[in-house]
Amino acid sequence: MNRRDLISIAVLASGISSVAPVWAQFNFGKVLEAGQDLAKAESITDEELKGYFDQMSAQMDQQNQVAPGSSPYAQRLSKMVIGLQNYDKLRLNFKVYLTPQINAFAMANGTIRVYSGLMDQFTDDEIRYVIGHEIGHVKSGHSKSRMQAALRTSALRKGVQSSNTRAGALANTELGDLFEKVINAQHSQSNEREADDYALGFMKNRKYNPKACVSALDKLAALSGDTSSSFLSTHPAPKDRADRLRSQVA
Ligand SMILES: [Zn+2]
Repeated sequence: MNRRDLISIAVLASGISSVAPVWAQFNFGKVLEAGQDLAKAESITDEELKGYFDQMSAQMDQQNQVAPGSSPYAQRLSKMVIGLQNYDKLRLNFKVYLTPQINAFAMANGTIRVYSGLMDQFTDDEIRYVIGHEIGHVKSGHSKSRMQAALRTSALRKGVQSSNTRAGALANTELGDLFEKVINAQHSQSNEREADDYALGFMKNRKYNPKACVSALDKLAALSGDTSSSFLSTHPAPKDRADRLRSQVA
Protein backbone atom coordinates (compact mmCIF):
# COMPACT_ATOMS: atom_id res chain seq x y z
CA MET A 1 0.00 0.00 0.00
CA ASN A 2 1.56 3.34 -0.99
CA ARG A 3 1.24 6.67 0.76
CA ARG A 4 -1.49 7.92 -1.56
CA ASP A 5 -3.68 4.93 -0.74
CA LEU A 6 -3.20 5.54 2.95
CA ILE A 7 -4.33 9.16 2.57
CA SER A 8 -7.43 8.07 0.70
CA ILE A 9 -8.30 5.64 3.45
CA ALA A 10 -7.79 8.35 6.06
CA VAL A 11 -10.05 10.75 4.15
CA LEU A 12 -12.64 8.07 3.68
CA ALA A 13 -12.57 7.14 7.35
CA SER A 14 -12.92 10.73 8.54
CA GLY A 15 -15.65 11.26 5.99
CA ILE A 16 -17.67 8.38 7.36
CA SER A 17 -17.31 9.42 10.97
CA SER A 18 -18.38 13.00 10.26
CA VAL A 19 -21.21 12.04 7.91
CA ALA A 20 -22.72 9.30 10.09
CA PRO A 21 -24.56 11.57 12.58
CA VAL A 22 -26.17 13.43 9.68
CA TRP A 23 -27.43 10.16 8.27
CA ALA A 24 -28.78 9.19 11.64
CA GLN A 25 -30.65 12.48 11.99
CA PHE A 26 -32.17 12.13 8.55
CA ASN A 27 -33.17 8.55 9.34
CA PHE A 28 -32.94 7.46 5.77
CA GLY A 29 -33.32 3.82 6.79
CA LYS A 30 -36.75 4.44 8.33
CA VAL A 31 -37.99 6.17 5.19
CA LEU A 32 -36.90 3.25 3.04
CA GLU A 33 -38.38 0.76 5.48
CA ALA A 34 -41.77 2.49 5.48
CA GLY A 35 -41.89 2.58 1.70
CA GLN A 36 -40.99 -1.07 1.45
CA ASP A 37 -43.62 -2.19 3.92
CA LEU A 38 -46.31 -0.08 2.40
CA ALA A 39 -45.66 -1.95 -0.83
CA LYS A 40 -45.80 -5.26 1.08
CA ALA A 41 -49.09 -4.31 2.70
CA GLU A 42 -50.67 -3.49 -0.64
CA SER A 43 -49.38 -6.60 -2.38
CA ILE A 44 -50.17 -9.12 0.33
CA THR A 45 -51.54 -12.32 -1.18
CA ASP A 46 -54.48 -14.29 0.17
CA GLU A 47 -52.11 -17.08 1.15
CA GLU A 48 -49.90 -14.75 3.20
CA LEU A 49 -52.93 -13.22 4.78
CA LYS A 50 -54.21 -16.65 5.76
CA GLY A 51 -50.82 -17.36 7.39
CA TYR A 52 -51.17 -14.33 9.67
CA PHE A 53 -54.76 -15.10 10.55
CA ASP A 54 -53.90 -18.77 11.25
CA GLN A 55 -51.29 -17.65 13.78
CA MET A 56 -53.62 -15.12 15.31
CA SER A 57 -56.54 -17.54 15.69
CA ALA A 58 -54.27 -20.22 17.21
CA GLN A 59 -53.15 -17.67 19.79
CA MET A 60 -56.72 -16.56 20.50
CA ASP A 61 -57.82 -20.17 21.01
CA GLN A 62 -54.93 -20.62 23.43
CA GLN A 63 -55.76 -17.48 25.42
CA ASN A 64 -59.49 -18.16 25.68
CA GLN A 65 -61.42 -21.04 27.17
CA VAL A 66 -62.68 -22.98 24.16
CA ALA A 67 -65.90 -24.87 24.96
CA PRO A 68 -65.13 -28.63 24.83
CA GLY A 69 -67.29 -30.91 22.67
CA SER A 70 -69.20 -32.03 25.77
CA SER A 71 -70.27 -28.46 26.60
CA PRO A 72 -73.93 -27.57 25.94
CA TYR A 73 -72.69 -24.38 24.24
CA ALA A 74 -70.48 -26.30 21.79
CA GLN A 75 -73.29 -28.77 21.10
CA ARG A 76 -75.79 -25.99 20.48
CA LEU A 77 -73.46 -24.18 18.10
CA SER A 78 -72.39 -27.29 16.20
CA LYS A 79 -76.05 -28.07 15.43
CA MET A 80 -76.53 -24.54 14.12
CA VAL A 81 -73.55 -24.61 11.78
CA ILE A 82 -74.16 -27.99 10.12
CA GLY A 83 -73.33 -27.55 6.43
CA LEU A 84 -71.56 -24.23 6.99
CA GLN A 85 -67.98 -25.56 6.94
CA ASN A 86 -67.92 -24.85 3.22
CA TYR A 87 -70.16 -21.92 2.49
CA ASP A 88 -70.13 -19.36 -0.33
CA LYS A 89 -66.64 -20.47 -1.41
CA LEU A 90 -65.32 -19.94 2.13
CA ARG A 91 -63.91 -22.57 4.47
CA LEU A 92 -65.27 -21.78 7.89
CA ASN A 93 -64.54 -23.16 11.35
CA PHE A 94 -66.59 -22.45 14.44
CA LYS A 95 -65.88 -22.55 18.17
CA VAL A 96 -67.42 -21.15 21.34
CA TYR A 97 -65.38 -19.18 23.89
CA LEU A 98 -66.66 -19.63 27.43
CA THR A 99 -66.87 -16.04 28.70
CA PRO A 100 -69.74 -13.82 29.89
CA GLN A 101 -68.84 -11.24 27.23
CA ILE A 102 -71.39 -10.61 24.50
CA ASN A 103 -69.25 -10.93 21.44
CA ALA A 104 -68.42 -12.79 18.24
CA PHE A 105 -65.73 -12.27 15.64
CA ALA A 106 -64.54 -13.56 12.29
CA MET A 107 -61.15 -13.64 10.58
CA ALA A 108 -60.30 -13.76 6.89
CA ASN A 109 -59.06 -17.36 7.23
CA GLY A 110 -62.62 -18.47 8.07
CA THR A 111 -62.23 -18.53 11.86
CA ILE A 112 -65.54 -17.66 13.51
CA ARG A 113 -65.79 -17.53 17.30
CA VAL A 114 -69.00 -16.98 19.25
CA TYR A 115 -68.87 -16.09 22.95
CA SER A 116 -71.09 -17.98 25.40
CA GLY A 117 -72.30 -14.64 26.86
CA LEU A 118 -73.88 -13.84 23.50
CA MET A 119 -75.41 -17.32 23.26
CA ASP A 120 -77.02 -16.84 26.70
CA GLN A 121 -78.90 -13.76 25.47
CA PHE A 122 -79.74 -14.75 21.89
CA THR A 123 -82.12 -17.28 20.31
CA ASP A 124 -80.75 -19.75 17.76
CA ASP A 125 -81.93 -17.60 14.84
CA GLU A 126 -80.45 -14.47 16.40
CA ILE A 127 -77.11 -16.27 16.71
CA ARG A 128 -77.50 -17.28 13.06
CA TYR A 129 -77.88 -13.61 12.17
CA VAL A 130 -74.63 -12.85 14.05
CA ILE A 131 -72.89 -15.71 12.21
CA GLY A 132 -74.24 -14.47 8.87
CA HIS A 133 -73.07 -10.95 9.72
CA GLU A 134 -69.57 -12.21 10.56
CA ILE A 135 -69.40 -14.29 7.36
CA GLY A 136 -70.42 -11.08 5.56
CA HIS A 137 -67.36 -9.29 6.96
CA VAL A 138 -65.13 -12.14 5.74
CA LYS A 139 -66.79 -12.36 2.32
CA SER A 140 -66.60 -8.60 1.72
CA GLY A 141 -62.87 -8.56 2.50
CA HIS A 142 -63.21 -6.25 5.51
CA SER A 143 -60.64 -8.18 7.54
CA LYS A 144 -58.26 -8.20 4.62
CA SER A 145 -58.30 -4.42 4.34
CA ARG A 146 -57.88 -4.12 8.10
CA MET A 147 -54.89 -6.42 7.91
CA GLN A 148 -53.37 -4.26 5.20
CA ALA A 149 -53.91 -1.21 7.37
CA ALA A 150 -52.29 -2.98 10.34
CA LEU A 151 -49.29 -3.98 8.24
CA ARG A 152 -48.60 -0.32 7.62
CA THR A 153 -48.00 0.28 11.32
CA SER A 154 -44.61 0.22 12.94
CA ALA A 155 -45.08 -2.47 15.60
CA LEU A 156 -46.04 -5.05 13.07
CA ARG A 157 -43.57 -3.85 10.44
CA LYS A 158 -40.74 -4.93 12.72
CA GLY A 159 -42.16 -8.42 13.05
CA VAL A 160 -42.63 -8.80 9.33
CA GLN A 161 -39.08 -7.63 8.70
CA SER A 162 -37.51 -10.00 11.19
CA SER A 163 -39.01 -13.01 9.44
CA ASN A 164 -37.78 -14.17 6.06
CA THR A 165 -41.17 -14.74 4.59
CA ARG A 166 -44.05 -12.37 5.06
CA ALA A 167 -46.12 -15.13 6.59
CA GLY A 168 -43.26 -16.03 8.98
CA ALA A 169 -43.99 -16.50 12.66
CA LEU A 170 -44.82 -13.34 14.54
CA ALA A 171 -44.11 -12.82 18.23
CA ASN A 172 -47.05 -12.99 20.66
CA THR A 173 -46.96 -9.24 21.27
CA GLU A 174 -47.16 -8.65 17.55
CA LEU A 175 -50.10 -11.04 17.26
CA GLY A 176 -51.78 -9.18 20.12
CA ASP A 177 -51.17 -5.88 18.37
CA LEU A 178 -52.57 -7.34 15.19
CA PHE A 179 -55.66 -8.64 16.93
CA GLU A 180 -56.25 -5.21 18.43
CA LYS A 181 -56.09 -3.55 15.02
CA VAL A 182 -57.76 -6.18 12.89
CA ILE A 183 -60.47 -7.64 15.10
CA ASN A 184 -61.01 -5.23 17.99
CA ALA A 185 -61.25 -2.10 15.86
CA GLN A 186 -64.62 -0.58 15.16
CA HIS A 187 -66.15 -1.38 11.78
CA SER A 188 -67.28 1.56 9.66
CA GLN A 189 -70.99 2.16 9.15
CA SER A 190 -70.71 1.13 5.51
CA ASN A 191 -68.96 -2.14 6.46
CA GLU A 192 -71.75 -2.78 8.96
CA ARG A 193 -74.44 -2.20 6.35
CA GLU A 194 -72.68 -4.52 3.94
CA ALA A 195 -72.35 -7.28 6.58
CA ASP A 196 -76.00 -6.81 7.60
CA ASP A 197 -77.19 -7.09 4.00
CA TYR A 198 -75.16 -10.25 3.66
CA ALA A 199 -76.66 -11.61 6.90
CA LEU A 200 -80.20 -10.91 5.68
CA GLY A 201 -79.49 -12.80 2.43
CA PHE A 202 -77.92 -15.60 4.47
CA MET A 203 -81.04 -15.93 6.63
CA LYS A 204 -83.35 -15.99 3.61
CA ASN A 205 -81.20 -18.47 1.63
CA ARG A 206 -81.06 -20.88 4.51
CA LYS A 207 -84.75 -20.44 5.34
CA TYR A 208 -84.17 -19.01 8.81
CA ASN A 209 -86.49 -16.34 10.15
CA PRO A 210 -85.11 -13.02 8.80
CA LYS A 211 -86.90 -11.13 11.58
CA ALA A 212 -84.21 -12.50 13.92
CA CYS A 213 -81.81 -9.95 12.38
CA VAL A 214 -84.00 -7.17 13.71
CA SER A 215 -84.63 -8.69 17.13
CA ALA A 216 -80.91 -9.41 17.59
CA LEU A 217 -80.05 -5.79 16.79
CA ASP A 218 -82.85 -4.56 19.07
CA LYS A 219 -81.34 -6.62 21.87
CA LEU A 220 -77.91 -5.16 21.16
CA ALA A 221 -79.37 -1.64 21.12
CA ALA A 222 -80.95 -2.29 24.52
CA LEU A 223 -77.53 -3.36 25.78
CA SER A 224 -75.95 -0.04 24.75
CA GLY A 225 -73.77 1.16 27.57
CA ASP A 226 -73.34 -2.38 28.89
CA THR A 227 -69.60 -2.90 29.05
CA SER A 228 -69.94 -6.67 28.74
CA SER A 229 -70.97 -6.17 25.13
CA SER A 230 -67.69 -6.00 23.21
CA PHE A 231 -69.69 -6.76 20.08
CA LEU A 232 -71.22 -3.29 20.30
CA SER A 233 -67.86 -1.56 20.40
CA THR A 234 -66.71 -3.30 17.23
CA HIS A 235 -70.08 -3.34 15.44
CA PRO A 236 -71.61 0.11 16.11
CA ALA A 237 -75.04 1.77 15.79
CA PRO A 238 -77.35 -1.22 16.42
CA LYS A 239 -80.51 0.91 16.60
CA ASP A 240 -80.07 2.46 13.15
CA ARG A 241 -79.20 -0.92 11.75
CA ALA A 242 -82.25 -2.55 13.36
CA ASP A 243 -84.49 0.15 11.84
CA ARG A 244 -82.93 -0.25 8.40
CA LEU A 245 -83.36 -4.05 8.43
CA ARG A 246 -86.88 -3.74 9.89
CA SER A 247 -88.00 -1.87 6.79
CA GLN A 248 -86.32 -4.45 4.53
CA VAL A 249 -87.84 -7.44 6.30
CA ALA A 250 -91.36 -5.93 6.40
ZN1 LIG B 1 -70.04 -6.00 12.02
